[in-house]
Amino acid sequence: MDTTSKLALILADADLPAALKAIALKVQNQERITFDEGVYLYENAELGYLGVLANYIREQKHGDNTYFNRNFHIEPTNVCVYDCKFCSYSRLIKQKEEGWEMSVDGMMEVLKKYDHEPVTEVHITGGVVPKQNLEFYSDFFRRAKAHRPELHIKALTPVEYYYIFKKAKLSHYDGMKYMQEAGLDSMPGGGAEIFHPEVREKIAHDKCNAEQWLDIHEQAHKLGMKTNATMLYGHIEQFWHRVDHMERLRRQQDKTGGFQAFIPLKFRNQHNQMDHVPEVSVIEDLRNYAIARIYMDNFDHIKAYWAMISRQTAQLSLNFGVDDIDGTLDDTTKIYSMAGAEEQHPAMSTRDLVDLIKQVKRKPIERDTLYNVVTDYSQVTFEDEVKPQYYKLPVIN
Ligand code: SF4
Repeated sequence: MDTTSKLALILADADLPAALKAIALKVQNQERITFDEGVYLYENAELGYLGVLANYIREQKHGDNTYFNRNFHIEPTNVCVYDCKFCSYSRLIKQKEEGWEMSVDGMMEVLKKYDHEPVTEVHITGGVVPKQNLEFYSDFFRRAKAHRPELHIKALTPVEYYYIFKKAKLSHYDGMKYMQEAGLDSMPGGGAEIFHPEVREKIAHDKCNAEQWLDIHEQAHKLGMKTNATMLYGHIEQFWHRVDHMERLRRQQDKTGGFQAFIPLKFRNQHNQMDHVPEVSVIEDLRNYAIARIYMDNFDHIKAYWAMISRQTAQLSLNFGVDDIDGTLDDTTKIYSMAGAEEQHPAMSTRDLVDLIKQVKRKPIERDTLYNVVTDYSQVTFEDEVKPQYYKLPVIN
């Protein structure tokens, strides 16, 4: 049965509570749901119902298209001046001998390793350290562009930029403009966590706040850059905090329209200061993807990271609103594995990823950062492929 017929069945169900029917009707009519309706869904809606609504929206927007990209990742440092309680990745400055800090030359060496690979993007993110300042990153962006001009640079989050611009005494707009002129093309979505101060002050008290995070994205959008947005869910927040988070992003998107993808990130509880907080179930992961798809009506894409949630959950998520599972991996990024993700040594060839998407009857589309189609793999066979090729995956996006 197709999704339109499934939605019609929901609307015809005499036993369905009126509030759920009203939300289903809004979805059918492509109307926006309210804050209260978002909270109502989290508190009351069953997985099957949410899946039908989210899948309906996903198929209206993208049909069976399922996007991934080929990129690689550079993590310039895992030392950090901040102290986010959920972070399994960073080493505080005082323990910096346990971490790494790359030089611009070191970053260029990583970049050059991919000279002969068909990658379209470099994704850069990591900790925040004084040495990696405005000059450091602008120097790297310039050298990277001079070396490989067509490679898209998606780099750093408002957490890094807020720190860097403050030190350089630049406004957010001037700072972003400076970085753009040096070669920055777009910004990933990390550092958003949960915006509401009730939660943010407990889990990420010392880095940029919601207003600062949103303002840096606003300035990037004004400069014509595309960006992404994340939400770290499944820890100490309540459902309404998640809806508040999505509401702030939805309003920002109404204003500037520069977000491409919304990426819910599951809290993992290993090797961090919140290891006493239990992780949520796979059911809750799928409910969360679905509600995000229903709520974020002005976001084109909902993205899941297969390495974070496992390949099987990634396949399932494609029926719960997700249309992008990001990319192939080569086990060089540490952010997820250090937090206890399913895939401790994530590696998947393009062929594996295409097969994973095809197995659940979706259409694998390799995209570039801006969602231009690079290759439609729905008709491609891999008979000529001699050996699998592995690439890195961006992480906190
Ligand atoms: S989450 Fe980011 S900002 Fe926070 S401690 Fe980890 S690396 Fe630093």
